[in-house]
Amino acid sequence: RIGNGLAKLQGRPTVSFEFFPPKDEQMEKTLWDSIQRLSPLQPRFVSVTYGADGSTRSRTHNIVTRIQETTSLTAAPHLTCVGAPREEILDIARNYWAHGIRHIVALRGDPPQGTTKYVAHPGGFAYAVDLVRGLKSVADFEISVAAYPEVHPEALGGQFDLDNLKAKLDAGADRAITQFFFDTGCFLRFRDQCAAAGIKASIVPGILPITRFPQLQRMARTCGASVPDWLADRFDGLDEDPDTRRLIAAAVAIEQVQALEREGVSEFHFYTLNRSELTYAICHALGVRPAPSLAAAG
Ligand code: FAD
Repeated sequence: RIGNGLAKLQGRPTVSFEFFPPKDEQMEKTLWDSIQRLSPLQPRFVSVTYGADGSTRSRTHNIVTRIQETTSLTAAPHLTCVGAPREEILDIARNYWAHGIRHIVALRGDPPQGTTKYVAHPGGFAYAVDLVRGLKSVADFEISVAAYPEVHPEALGGQFDLDNLKAKLDAGADRAITQFFFDTGCFLRFRDQCAAAGIKASIVPGILPITRFPQLQRMARTCGASVPDWLADRFDGLDEDPDTRRLIAAAVAIEQVQALEREGVSEFHFYTLNRSELTYAICHALGVRPAPSLAAAG
């Protein structure tokens, strides 16, 4: 299929993994265990999220620099426009560059907890596109930005949101990672719209392996992702049955990535929620296996 040739020539799809900064020692151990388990799969990069109000700033920084400096992985911190003036945000970026970090996931950010409406910081970057321009003025970072197959909930309209995505890429971003979704058709229509709008950069599907369904429903409500009835039906009655739930979750995500692969998708971003098991299984099904030497070492 069109678009799949390059990946097939190189032998396998490209993957990246997203983590979040842990809050306590137990979560920290889970995170590093997951990083260790997933790193032999040779992701293009691993990214670390940034708290809605910048509250995780130092934790994001510590995790990212530790990944960059102590593993062979490429670490990509998320950075948002929320809660800080421009120079402060650009100083963070300069500091990352000094630590050898070359890839940033640039976002506007969500309103801090307890507030519902986004308000740009006075003297701050208003939107992600402004942050992308700012970062490019600091150094030639590789930049990933966010995209919304189901349209960002605050967007003035679908076309506006698409124009915004194009503006972020035209400002120097290299790829777009999508919000998670479960309707493959919706992603494919969005990819077509991007192509029709002249977007040439990769639109990388964000894959969310489902660990707990009620949690997923909450996340979906806040970010405007729809949860189809068939998906609710698959998880129905499994709230107290983690073993079956994990098997169903793996099956759902494997069906999703395989359907996308048949449509020429050759790059996937995984929202790991700091867990490795499902992501590892899905990658395995995609043919993404540890490099032999790394498997032996791990
Ligand atoms: P933007 O691209 O700036 O768009 C935000 C909204 O504003 C859109 O509706 C857009 O259409 C609209 N818009 C753009 N320009 C204008 C304008 N001039 N006038 C009016 N409206 C305009 N959040 C975090 O806090 N931390 C994270 O680490 C994080 N990681 C994420 C990773 C991924 C892959 C994704 C998909 C999302 C992530 N988010 C994160 C969530 C993200 O911050 C929110 O979805 C946020 O609401 C929008 O961010 P954005 O970068 O897409 O914003």
